[in-house]
Parts: sequence; structure tokens; C-alpha cells
Amino acid sequence: MKSRYQREEAEAFVRSAGCPEHLALRLYTSRLIGRDPELVLHGGGNTSVKGTLRTLLGDEVECLWVKGSGSSLDKVTARDFPALDLSYLRRLVALESLTDEEMVNQLRTHLFDASAPNPSVEALLHAFLPHRFVDHSHADAVVTLTNQPDGEALIREALGPEVIVLPYIMPGFPLAKAVFEAYQAHQPKAGILLMQHGLFTFGDTARESYERHIELVDRCEQTIAARRRSIQTPDVAYGAERARTLAPRLRGAITKAAGVSLVVERRFGPEVLQACALPQAPALFETGPLTPDHVLRVKPWPLFLSAEAEDDTALAADLARAVARYQAYFETHRARSPQARALDAAPRVLLDRATGIWAFGKSKQEAMIAADIAEHTLTAKVAADAISGYRALPDGDLFDMEYWSLEQAKLGKTKPRPLEGRVVLITGAAGAIGRGIAEVCAEAGAQLFLTDRDEAGLAAAQAAFASIQVRGCVMDVTDRSSVERAFDCLLAEYGGVDVVVANAGLAHVASLESLEPGDFSRLLAVNAEGTLATIAAAARVFRAQGLGGNIILNSSKNVFAPGKDFGAYSASKAAAHQLAKVAAIELAPLGVRVNMLNPDAVFSHGEVPSGLWSLVGPSRAKSRGLEISELYEFYRERNLLKVPVTAREVGNAVLFFATNQTPTTGASLPIDGGLVEAFPR
Ligand code: ZN
Repeated sequence: MKSRYQREEAEAFVRSAGCPEHLALRLYTSRLIGRDPELVLHGGGNTSVKGTLRTLLGDEVECLWVKGSGSSLDKVTARDFPALDLSYLRRLVALESLTDEEMVNQLRTHLFDASAPNPSVEALLHAFLPHRFVDHSHADAVVTLTNQPDGEALIREALGPEVIVLPYIMPGFPLAKAVFEAYQAHQPKAGILLMQHGLFTFGDTARESYERHIELVDRCEQTIAARRRSIQTPDVAYGAERARTLAPRLRGAITKAAGVSLVVERRFGPEVLQACALPQAPALFETGPLTPDHVLRVKPWPLFLSAEAEDDTALAADLARAVARYQAYFETHRARSPQARALDAAPRVLLDRATGIWAFGKSKQEAMIAADIAEHTLTAKVAADAISGYRALPDGDLFDMEYWSLEQAKLGKTKPRPLEGRVVLITGAAGAIGRGIAEVCAEAGAQLFLTDRDEAGLAAAQAAFASIQVRGCVMDVTDRSSVERAFDCLLAEYGGVDVVVANAGLAHVASLESLEPGDFSRLLAVNAEGTLATIAAAARVFRAQGLGGNIILNSSKNVFAPGKDFGAYSASKAAAHQLAKVAAIELAPLGVRVNMLNPDAVFSHGEVPSGLWSLVGPSRAKSRGLEISELYEFYRERNLLKVPVTAREVGNAVLFFATNQTPTTGASLPIDGGLVEAFPR
């Protein structure tokens, strides 16, 4: 590992940071640490700097800026470093003990800004060390060496006498105090190593502390490299067919076991597949995490799937084994935390010889974090196995972290959004109504999979969600192989689907007399056959997944109230409508509901015009003797409620059905402001 510190870059950063120099340099080197996934992953690690701060009354007070919990080092800003009353915090070391809740309270009540984020739970440790800059990471190389039977000897050899080594202690006051006492007794020059946890370094400057950190981690990496025995890496082929079969089954089984809807992130790079194909893989990988912190993301152990897991019975047996192991762990250790409320027993990481890592989370983002941890864990366990063997901390330490009172206190605090963890596939997502539906579902916490045959339009629709993970794929509903490819892509991205919105549609204006047969076929292909293809593909996933589901067809007001010159559209939409009713009958045994929406006169969504109205608007205006600009007003005046209809309102109707608010299937919901001639019957 090499230092990433560059003097010019650091100076430029200080000039543009808009905060005092010591804090700017603190941010700069914190980001350097955060940029290295071999040092910290997603919110792991923390850093601090000490200095003085002038209060409103003009007093100069000693201050500790320490990373707040919840932020990731690679993107930290001054806002992520709450300032604390350092002289006060230092005095806390005299206490015999301090509960975690009281420690959090002490930190919160000694902030200089009441709205600052909560300081890291390792804040006192930073406060008790005398150095100006302190850096802390959970480096892969450190946990690789320390999770071994002779881990302590290995790490001492790697780091030399400038670093003191402490056994694993749960973060909080006891750890901060133990570090302080060890520091007082030994006065280490460079740092403090915590077994199965990570490394602290310190220095008078940001650069000194950071570069000491890098140098020590580099020494650990060298030690690993020098001792690594070559392992026979098996030849592996990715089991694409197996992955396709497993995806909805695994998602269904894990979601049921966890009691919350989860999505998957798969990793199957060559290193992952080679690791999973090692003969010792199940025993090596079904072990505890590199550091207890990971338990909060990936649960205590992954489950290694049996070769027969494609079979539902074998998969159920695999999962039952994992659940039983978890329940026994809870029962064995529950006395350590008498108030502990049992968490779900489902693993969050599954491993498979042919298909690699399957990591689960309540969102794509969460699943990706779990997958990153799982990938680093595999690499570290393989490396440890090639030295003196991998040995994780005892289960009791994992339990203490998983059932930590501070973590338990978070339970039930935030109400999940109605579509959290649910995957919503939308066809025709580039159009106005598709965009409105996507927007409402995303706000409800859904994981979106957008499809459209218009590649540029689809890209624009996806780009509208820059701040969340959205997936999608070009799909032409008139082409069965295109539909199949899109659903394969859906399974690869999320593992399954909960809500399928059949929204793709096409319009054409011509009287029956003048309607070209080709145009009629074209509309039938999109509106009727396309709906059939979408329903059929969705049904196959729902069946494999076993979680029920929703299909929602964007039908049309025309189904109830057809209009002249609109025969091809009305007839093909009526066919789709009837198909959806049959689907409601056929899919009810799977717990799948199928409902229809009947909107009217949705002209656009923001800047996105409705394809249908761009096409029919001019002729409709002409036949009514109106200017195009008057049409909007005309349709508003036409309905009983005298209201315009928006794409987001169609989205609200999707949300209503997708959340199973009423025991309803095979039903139609008009979204038209009230049109007597289009009342469903
Ligand atoms: Zn830590």
C-alpha cells in the first residue's frame, strides 16, 4: 500500500475547503483513507483532529473534531466532523464505567453545535489520545493477520515495537479507557493495534498520522505476501443457467425468512468464483466476520449453498440449517443482553460454488454494501487460510455487537416506506405516464427497473433518478426474446420482482374504413400481445419467487368509452384489458393480484410529452374545432370534477394497488376526473 498524499493536491484542497487549515487537512487525509477500500468500507473507520475554537464570548476552548457516525470517509465535509468540548471529554477518563447510552449523552451534550451529527462511538478514544491527529481504519490486511490462531505473533512481527497490540474489546468507554491506559503505560510512537478490529495511528500533522497508517498497513500486507502459500485455484465456469434458476428462488426464500422484502447484489468475478470453488470453501467461509462491526450489515455468517440448491427442497434444507444455527446462537447468548429483541434469522450473504456471492439488502444500495463486505471477507479468509488458518472471534463478541443496546434502540424508530425493498418493473417507462409512475414508486421506497424500447428515452428516465440506484434495460414488448432478455436482466439486478406495471402502449388515428391492416396488427402487437408477453414473463418469476405480487395494467378510459377514429387503439386495449382479467383468475392461486388503471387525458409529465397525445392531439383538436392549446382546457371541463389528470396520479393508483390496501384483483380504477360514459361496468 502506498501513500496517496500529494502536497499540491493537499494545498489546493485547503484553499478551496472553506474551513480552518487543520480541519481542511483532516478532511483531505480522511478522504485519502476513504478512497482505499482495502482500508475502510462504507462508513467504516474514523479520524479526528484537535485544536481550539473561539466561543461567542471570546473564550478560546480546546476542541476535538471527530467524524460523525453515518458518514463515509471518502466523501466527508466539515459538516461531518462535529466539534466537541475536549477538556471536558478528557476528564471522563477518570470514571470507573460509563454505559453506552450515557456516553452518547455525554458526547451530545458537549457539542458546540446542537444540530451536529452524533460523534463516532469511538470519539472518546480519540479524545483520550494526546496527539493532534488520529487516524483509524479496519484495514483488510490487519484483520487478515489478526483473525488467525497465531494472529498476535503475526501482527507483532509485522508492526514492530512502535505499535502496541490490544485484544478485541467492544467499542465504547471500556475500549477508550483500555487504549488510554495502554498508551500511558507504553507510550507507543506510531500507533495502537486492536485485534480483530483495526489500527489507530497518530501524529502532529495530518500527513504524519496518515502516512504512518499507510506504512503500518503496508507492513501487514508484506507479511501476508511473504507467508502466502500458493493455493491451487480451481478452474471455474460461471453457472449462468444456475444463476437464472436460483435468483427468484433465493430472493423468495430469504425474503420470507427475513420477514422483510430484500433485493440481491451478485458478485461473480474470477477471484470470487475461484474462492467459492476451493474444496475447503464451505468450512472456511461459513465462519464469523473479519470484525464484529460487519455483523450489522451481513449477519454473523454467510450460508454456503449445497450443490442441489436449484431444487426447492434442498434450498429449504440449506436455509433451515442457517436459521437453526442463528436461533441457537441467539438462545446461547441472549443472557448477555437480557433486553435483547431477537432479530430475524435469515443470512444476508449466500455463497455458491458456481455463481459466487449473493448479498441481500433492503435496497440495491444496501445489498451492494453487503456484497462489498462479503467480497473483502472472502479475500481475507483465503489469505488467512494460506498462513495459519482463519479464526474469527467467538460468537459471544458477535452477539454483543449485533445486540448492542445502541443498535437495538434504533429498531422500529424509522417507519419503512410503503414499497421498501419492493422491486417495481415498468414497461414504457420513457413516456409521460411511465415517468410519473416511476417517480411515485421511487418516493415510496421502491427499487425501480425501467424498460422501454426507446433507448435514449430510457436513459433519460433513468438519469432522472441520479440520487438513487435505478436499473433498467431496453425491452420491446412485441419481441418475446427481448422480453426474456429484460427479465433475465431484472433477475440479475434484483433477484426478482414484486410489481409489474404493463404500461407500454401505442396509439393510431384512423377510421375503420381507412385503417390499414398493418397498422391494426402493429397496435395489436404492442397493446395486446405486448401485454400478454409481459404478464407471461412476470408470472414465471412470481411462481419461482413464491412471494405473491402485483400486475398493474395501464388500460385506458377507451376500454369503457371508445372514440371514433380510434378503433385499433380501443380494440387492442380492450384485448389487453380482458387478458388482465384472465390473469387475475389464473394468478390468484399464486397470491398475485392483477388490476387495471383507466386514465384519461394525461398530456405530459413535466417536460416529457405523452406519446399518445402528441399523436392524437392535433386530430382531436381539429375534430372539435379547437386550437391544440385549448384541448387541455377542453378535457378538464369535460369531466365531472373539472380537474386535469396527471401522470403522478396514475402513479398514486399504482401505489394503491401495489401496497395491497384492499383485497382486490381483476378490478378497474378510473383516473379520469369522472366520466359518466366511462364508468366501469
Ligand atoms: Zn473501528
